[in-house]
Amino acid sequence: MKLHTKIAIGLVAGALAGGLANALFPDAAWVAWIADNIAYPVGQVFLRLLFMTVVPIVFTSIVLGVAGIGDMKTLGRLGGRTMIYFGLSTLIAATIGLTLVNTIRPGGGLPPDVRDDLMAQFSGGASDLAASGATDFGIGTFVNIVPRNPVAAAADMDMLALIFFSLIFGAALTLIPRAKAQPVIDVLDGIGEAIIRIIDMAMHLAPYGVFGLIFVITSQFGWGILAQLSMYVIVVLLGLLLHAAIGISGLVRIFGRMSPVRFWKAVTAPIVTAFSTSSSMATLPTSIKTAEDELDVQPKVAGFVLPLGATMNMNGTSLFEGVTVLFLAQVFGVELGVSEQIVVVILAVLTAIGAAGVPGGSLPLMMLVMATVGVPPEGIAIILGVDRILDMARTTLNVCGDISAAVYVDRIDREMEGLAPAQHTAAGG
Ligand code: ASP
Repeated sequence: MKLHTKIAIGLVAGALAGGLANALFPDAAWVAWIADNIAYPVGQVFLRLLFMTVVPIVFTSIVLGVAGIGDMKTLGRLGGRTMIYFGLSTLIAATIGLTLVNTIRPGGGLPPDVRDDLMAQFSGGASDLAASGATDFGIGTFVNIVPRNPVAAAADMDMLALIFFSLIFGAALTLIPRAKAQPVIDVLDGIGEAIIRIIDMAMHLAPYGVFGLIFVITSQFGWGILAQLSMYVIVVLLGLLLHAAIGISGLVRIFGRMSPVRFWKAVTAPIVTAFSTSSSMATLPTSIKTAEDELDVQPKVAGFVLPLGATMNMNGTSLFEGVTVLFLAQVFGVELGVSEQIVVVILAVLTAIGAAGVPGGSLPLMMLVMATVGVPPEGIAIILGVDRILDMARTTLNVCGDISAAVYVDRIDREMEGLAPAQHTAAGG
């Protein structure tokens, strides 16, 4: 049986077991015991094994990607196109989300007095939030991208700073004499390959890890919480589906010149991994492997675009942020006009770039967007119960958006280099 079939079985079995345990034995101590002492550790060990590889893989793949691209001119051209593609796809996603939430209005329909009560209850703690630093976003955020100490940035998993250092380091390797750069490149190449082997081994634990992760969530929350927020959840999920069907498929067709059917067939493994880990970073190794093996993306392009994408390109997250901020505005009765909504879209795109590719990575930044347009940030509590499920779905889109960018940049690079087009082996060439 193929590994990703096994992972899918782990996912469904874990969700069923957890959901049933929650429905049949609500609040049973033994269910909680199983979740805490068996499912949780198994799931966490699996996640940690993946996280363990993130710093070395980001460093080696970006350095090798940049060094492999060779000269600064090509780097600039590919880098520029990568950023434009990231920006465009994220903007399309946020716009789809905003259109849906305005049309369906999942948060409308609450009686005005209930709204006022909610507002009174939630608008008190803004100062606590500011004190916690969750909304510190400004010029300092950009200054901090340049690390004082790259080792500290790696140790703190400060991905933007690590990426910045890796980009500069890779570029510097192309500027020093080849004889000096080559041994460094060879060593990094060896490290990169060893890390990929570690990931391969870790993925054999995935079916069990995924079972554990899903069991913990469903045994705790069941499906009940979903009912209350069902309209909101449906709007987010519908938006993500639309973005997959129209946005990403369209971009793959127009920019990548590839049949969307081929694309979607090839990306099953990253979809399953993203869905079960809720983390673009944890999915990064799988995306790199899939892009190279199934979509024939050149390793230097995959190594350059995908680590950048895992941190900076979050289509699903920007859509989710747009919908959530407007949904909560509707719930609290905060009227947002066209210009405020444009601010929401712009901030959703920017904060999606800044969000970390880890479970719930966008939540602190989304609170900032809420505060900016006058929606009480504490209101985020209303959606936290369903966030894990939405996180699974939006992370999946984040990752597919990254891979579509790699397909596009690979095509451009092949054209610039005069190489034959990629062979998309997964779908029969
Ligand atoms: N979990 C998302 C990711 O890793 C980030 C987020 O939206 O919270 O891509």
